[in-house]
This record gives sequence, C-alpha cells and structure tokens, in this order.
Amino acid sequence: MFGLPVSRGVAIGRAVLVASSRVDVAHYFIDPDEAAAEVARLRHARDTVVHEITSLKRDLPVDAPPELAALLDVHLMLLHDPMLSEATRHWIEGRHYNAEWAITAQTEVLARQFDDMEDDYLRERKADVEQVAERLLRAMAKEGSLLPQAAHARDFAGEDPLVLVANDIAPADMLQFKGSVFKGFVTDVGGRTSHTAIVARSMDIPAVVGAREASRLVRQDDWLIIDGDNGVVVVNPTPIVLEEYRFRQRQSELERARLHRLRHMPSVTIDGQAVELLANIELPADAANALEAGAVGVGLFRSEFLFMNRNGELPDEDEQFEAYRAAVTALGGLPVTIRTVDIGADKPLDRVATHEMRHEHALNPALGLRAIRWSLSEPDMFRQQLRAMLRASAYGKVRILVPMVAHRSEILATLEALQRAKQQLADAGIAYSKVELGAMIEVPAAALTMPLLLQHFDFVSIGTNDLIQYTLAIDRADEAVAHLYDPWHPAVLKLIADVIAAADAAGKHVSVCGEMAGDTTFTELLLGLGLRSLSMHPSQISAVKQRVLRADTARLAKASAAALTGLDPAAVWTALIDKPGQRAAAT
Ligand code: PEP
Ligand code: MG
Repeated sequence: MFGLPVSRGVAIGRAVLVASSRVDVAHYFIDPDEAAAEVARLRHARDTVVHEITSLKRDLPVDAPPELAALLDVHLMLLHDPMLSEATRHWIEGRHYNAEWAITAQTEVLARQFDDMEDDYLRERKADVEQVAERLLRAMAKEGSLLPQAAHARDFAGEDPLVLVANDIAPADMLQFKGSVFKGFVTDVGGRTSHTAIVARSMDIPAVVGAREASRLVRQDDWLIIDGDNGVVVVNPTPIVLEEYRFRQRQSELERARLHRLRHMPSVTIDGQAVELLANIELPADAANALEAGAVGVGLFRSEFLFMNRNGELPDEDEQFEAYRAAVTALGGLPVTIRTVDIGADKPLDRVATHEMRHEHALNPALGLRAIRWSLSEPDMFRQQLRAMLRASAYGKVRILVPMVAHRSEILATLEALQRAKQQLADAGIAYSKVELGAMIEVPAAALTMPLLLQHFDFVSIGTNDLIQYTLAIDRADEAVAHLYDPWHPAVLKLIADVIAAADAAGKHVSVCGEMAGDTTFTELLLGLGLRSLSMHPSQISAVKQRVLRADTARLAKASAAALTGLDPAAVWTALIDKPGQRAAAT
C-alpha cells in the first residue's frame, strides 16, 4: 500500500486498529488496575441499552410491523452474545483499551467476519452489530469517562512492538498517543501537513498518512512494515522483505545517531553566517526534548494543544500560566515563542465543548472561525491567555505569536487586548516583563501587506503550512489533493521571498516555522532567500544543521534568485544545486 510519507524511518510491528465509528470515540490505554472499573462501565452501558430496547419493544404500537419487534429481539440477543460482550472485555483486560475503544475494535472484528459470510441474510446482520455498538457508545458518552485524562497515554506491557492503523486520528487523539508504545502509524486520510501528521512527526516515529484503504485491508494483529521515508506500508511481509527492512531500519538508526552528534555544534554556514535553529513544541514537556536536540529556543509553542482532551473545559489562566512557565523555565533564558490559541480547521476543540458547535457547522472550517478570529470572538478567553503568557514572561524570555492575522482590524484588536491584559496585571500588582509580539504569515493577504504588519509587530514567522494551503487553495488535510500541495510553486516561493526581504529591510526578525523549515529539501533554498532562523520539530534539527554547516549562502543566494525567476523553480534548483557534482561546489 502507498501513502504519503510524513515521518522518517522504518517501523515494524503488529497492527492495532483504531476503528472509525459514527460516534466520536476517544482511544487511550488504561492502567491495568482500572480494567475492572472499565468493564463495569461497559456492563452498565449494556444494561442501559438493554433497558432502552426492552422499553422500546414494550411500547411498540399494536399495528407496528412485526419485523420491528424481531429486529429489537436481534439487538437484545446481540447485547447478550459473548461475541460482543465477552470479546469486548478481552480488549479491555488483555490489551488495556478503554471501553469505547474496545467496543469499536470488537465491532470491527465482527463486521469483517460478517463481510466474509456467503449468506446474504447473515451478511446484513453487520448493520445490527454496528447499531448496537453505536447505542452502547452513546450510552457511555452520556455517562462520561471515569478516568483522569493523565492516564490516557500510558504504556502497557506487550511483547511485540505495535503500530497504529486508523481511518483518521484527530490531532487531540494523536496527542494522547504521544509517549505511548506505538512504533509507527498509518492512516487512510490526511495530508503531509495535516495536524495529525505534524503531531506524528513531533513524536518522531515513522508514519504514513493518506494510505486510503489501509484501515480496511489491514487486520488486527497483522504484521506491518511502515516505511516513513517512502510512504510504503507492507502487510504481513515475507521473511526476505522483512530482512531487507530490518537492515534499512538499522541503517536509519545509525544515521540518526551520527546526526545526533551535531546537536551541540554551533549552527554556522561555511561563510560564517549564524543560522538560528529553534524548536516547535506542543506541550511544555516537549521543552526538554527541544534542548536535548540542540534547539536555541522555541520558535513555535502550539498552545492549542493545552486546550484539547479536556471534556470541554478550557484551561483557566493559572493552569495556562503554569504550562507556559514550565516551558519558559525549562528553556533557561532561551526565547520561547508562544502562539495564541489556533483552534479550528483540522484542530477542533473537544467534541463536547460548546464553542466547537460553531466549527462543527462551519461550511468550510479552514476558512472559518479559526486562530486569531476565534480568539477575538472569545475576548475573555483571549485576555486570559494573554495574561497567562505575560505572567510567564517574568520567568524568562517570552514572545507572543499571533496566528493567521490578515486584517488591520484584527491587528488593532489584538494590540488592544494585549494592552488591556497588561493593564489588568499592573492593576493587580502582578509582575511581567517585556514581550515581543509577532505575527504569523499564513495568509497571502498578510504576505502581500507586510508594511502594515511590520508597522505593528516586532517580528514575523512564516507558517508555510497554511501559507501554501491558502495560496494554492489546497486543503492541507485532504489526501485527494495532496499532490497539488506544492511548496515549490512559484507563487508560494515568491511570497516567502518577499516576506523575508520585507522583514529584513525593516530590520525585523523573520523565521519560518511551517514544515518546510524542518524539511532538508528546502534548507539551502531558504538560506539562499536570506532566511537565518528556522523552527522545526526537535528531531529534525540535526539534519537541518548538517545542511547549514555545509552551506555557502552567497552561492545559494544566486541559485535561489535564479530559481525564483524561472517558471519551474524546482527544475532550476535541481539543475543548479542538486546536480551530482555541482552540489559539492555549491554547498
Ligand atoms: C503553519 O501554518 O505553517 C504553522 C506553523 O501553523 P500550523 O501548522 O499549526 O497551522
Ligand atoms: Mg498555521
């Protein structure tokens, strides 16, 4: 199977399927001690549904078609069938899945068995199993989860390495898998810069997205090879294929170890240009990783991840303050760029959050109420966040970054909110230090009106993921148009080049924090365009640094200029820089 490679390396392991279901379901591992409570939740949900269906049956009007009563009987029978109840229990007790995940996993197993049946009548019973599962999930959703969120990403002891296979994984769910046992993952949908892919990349495990049929073709416990370099997924490989990939896996680990040695070397080109390599993080706990990888600061702290997986409760000012302070203190004086919340599009809030209702019904969420637009529509929440960031500035160097600004009115409203947040702190006698305010350049309108932005902001950071999405009108999370998501498009490169030039001319700091920054294909090009600051996943820093150490920026500037004037920048660039033999001369 083929998909889009999103995170490097080779993973080999047994498939754990996260089945999709019509009811939104959280997936997490429970602590083995919690299995009994989880089974009790399952039993309780079953009793509720049995009661529901029995009442439904009892209240059927006398003239109801007899098929209806028969159908309800089938559902009651299924609820008591060990194939559903006992086997679901097995996923909880043996695999330590939470109850909802156990139900969807078992439903998937049964659905496949029904699919394989010859008899039409029996095959159609699949729909009944799915309906019963849906009723169970809805009953559980009403009761809520018993478990504290902190238990979610816990590892469990298994013998074989595991890889995750799903139709899709929401960024919030992906975050819960961070630090868990999975050695790799595959999804049917998604683009290279979807937020699910971004979180996977931050986990630094091999991943393939957009593999279309993967979750349908792969079965629970199949052996899988995930080739995150080439976007290939091999199901139940032969011994020879397995051996070949094990060899590649070892090679890739050796290469990583070699690159890792560069982590504390200063990042300077051969012609003496210092290039700042910063880290993108999602949670304060990632800060340690960033330092370990040799980052000289955090260029993008995606604060919205603090807002996810919270059953609709937003973090209050103190909680946010603690999170920002943790990151700032961990960085020990190095700058931490905290982005104000970027909720919306492919990063919805929790399912039950009231705010989210507006996104769910948005016709086109990527163009809807997201990022700064959402923050400005929730002024109390926004000021709370700004105050939390300001308070953290008393403990280190904080920069505040605003996502997706495009309008003068948004800039002015943001400045006003910041001013009010400062005033409130001052009135309460709470300390804060000077913070720089930056704008993300993610919308072509912003890139094309740099003088306006530079008038108000201290620095800019180019969010190439969105800038490409909005310039080319390509949904970054949609694998169907992934082939058109092209960072080499002349329009994209021109916008990036112009933003860098405008910021330089105004003497303001400019950085790239989209996925292009960590993709070594673009390191030399960006250096050639004059960029001297890049922010990326910590795991990418060493590979980018290796490119920096070999770069001659004067030569690269000429090549970048030539690529930009050509109609096919990628071809010009390859001819000038990537041609074997010439590369050494140019770099
Ligand atoms: C971007 O758009 O490039 C960016 C860094 O922000 P995000 O990926 O979180 O949208
Ligand atoms: Mg963005």
